[in-house]
Amino acid sequence: MSDRQPPEQPASQPAYLATVAVQPELDIAPGFASFSQATHRGSTVVFRNLAELRAHGDGATTYWRYGLHATPTSEALCQHLALIEGARHALLLPSGLAAISQVYFALVKSGDDVLVPDNVYGPNREHGEWLARDFGVSVRYYDPMIGAGIAGLIRSNTRLIWMESPGSVTMEIPDTEAIVAAAKARGVLTAIDNTWSAGVYFRPFDKGIDISVQALTKYQSGGSDVLMGAVLSTDDKLHDRIKRARMLMGWGVSADDCYLVLRSLPSMPVRLAAHDRAAREVAEWLTQRPEVVKVLHPALPDCPGHDFWRRDFSGATGLFSIVLHARYTRAQVDAFVEALRLFAIGWSWGGAHSLALPYHVQTMRPQGSWPPVGWENTGELVRLYIGLEDTRDLIADLRGAMESQLVA
Ligand SMILES: *Cc1c(COP(=O)(O)O)cnc(C)c1O
Repeated sequence: MSDRQPPEQPASQPAYLATVAVQPELDIAPGFASFSQATHRGSTVVFRNLAELRAHGDGATTYWRYGLHATPTSEALCQHLALIEGARHALLLPSGLAAISQVYFALVKSGDDVLVPDNVYGPNREHGEWLARDFGVSVRYYDPMIGAGIAGLIRSNTRLIWMESPGSVTMEIPDTEAIVAAAKARGVLTAIDNTWSAGVYFRPFDKGIDISVQALTKYQSGGSDVLMGAVLSTDDKLHDRIKRARMLMGWGVSADDCYLVLRSLPSMPVRLAAHDRAAREVAEWLTQRPEVVKVLHPALPDCPGHDFWRRDFSGATGLFSIVLHARYTRAQVDAFVEALRLFAIGWSWGGAHSLALPYHVQTMRPQGSWPPVGWENTGELVRLYIGLEDTRDLIADLRGAMESQLVA
């Protein structure tokens, strides 16, 4: 209440209870200082007069316009996210997928071409297929390890190149420097889904990437209880384009959800470091297991693109995958996952609880880029998310489930 601009008061005081109930004259002392952001809920933004309302859009005297577009709470979250990732601007969307969709709809139109990595987050692939089927956009998928070879795929109508690092499920780290260089040479925009690093361990704007997308649902929320996404950028014109599309599509987020994410951001670097330490310990233990043929953790040499991780990242996080030996059937691998007591079965990650999910990658890669050339005995893949439990318990759980279910 304290920083609300009240409308100019009528000369007479209200005489009747219903009016007082709606428009009480409160006297709240200013100067309440705390570490938390105020949660400003609001649809109507109150202007002091009509001139101020009408001036909106051209040299407005007040920044605020409508609760859907921004509130001090959402603005605080945008600025906080931009500072963490090294961006100038952030826009909030109701989910990570909505942020991905926003990038497509803001920047791509009928007749344009988009390049998407073959290991992209599944719903991004489905979104691209929808645009190709119903909106006249050409969407093509590239081998995530293509590097400078992407230059050969760029056409005169290519508008946007998506990257994801690491890619979903199979965890390849692309050579983003080479892809960005090829894109810039042809004036093509680049966007990265940077959810895995939470914008902390990979700095997309230092690499010349135009747009970063975050699923705030993951580490920024940290509580497995909020759905939200962000589109971050540094170029003012690009930001304005995406912001305008967001306004036209009517996207907004709740101040309460913003508050929950704001509450978690101060602990995010410490949580990430704990996930990193624990995940590397579990991953290294898994490299010793006879049931496992590959540990796809970006900080370990088996992971395709591990050298790019070393070049470009300052840390790793809690999510990685393992490839089990081909001698185990899908049913055995399912039984292994179901035998785990401490790893829950479910999508999404970024909270305190560990998770496990089996993937049959062969059917996810219509381009045939799986398994990589030279890999032997490539069986089913299991994606693990290492939460904040004690690794001694997690390792004992994995050992128990392997020894009871993965019998040759
Ligand atoms: C979870 C996730 C998303 C989508 O986030 P939602 O908020 O669940 O829509 C997008 N990209 C990646 C890499 C993700 O892991």
